[in-house]
Amino acid sequence: MGRLFLVTLEGKIYSCKHCKTHLALCDDIVSKSFHCRHGKAYLFSKVANVTVGVKEDRMMMTGLHTVADIFCVKCGSIVGWTYETAHEKNQKYKEGKSVLERFKLSGPDGSSYWVSHEAQIIRSEQEEV
Ligand SMILES: [Zn+2]
Repeated sequence: MGRLFLVTLEGKIYSCKHCKTHLALCDDIVSKSFHCRHGKAYLFSKVANVTVGVKEDRMMMTGLHTVADIFCVKCGSIVGWTYETAHEKNQKYKEGKSVLERFKLSGPDGSSYWVSHEAQIIRSEQEEV
């Protein structure tokens, strides 16, 4: 039929910036300390509504990994990558997990970065004192 089956996530959701398809939950973030070409990226234990591209070996800062790009199932834009195999022993925890580029996501409270959101909260609290 060509109709896409989309999983609906509940909770604090990260969604595709372009089409608002739900991609991952805040609760499933493993690490926020990842980086990609466009800046920050988050490691998630699981992601939804993505299609997985061709596997390839990629040399990263932390060693050689077999990865595949992942794409939003609805609009087809690339949203990050998934780890098939980590070749360094101390990077094995990444296997089966996926990185989403923060730049490609809408966060739980709109499109703003967590950092700027948190900074705004701190600033407004200080102004009230
Ligand atoms: Zn999309």
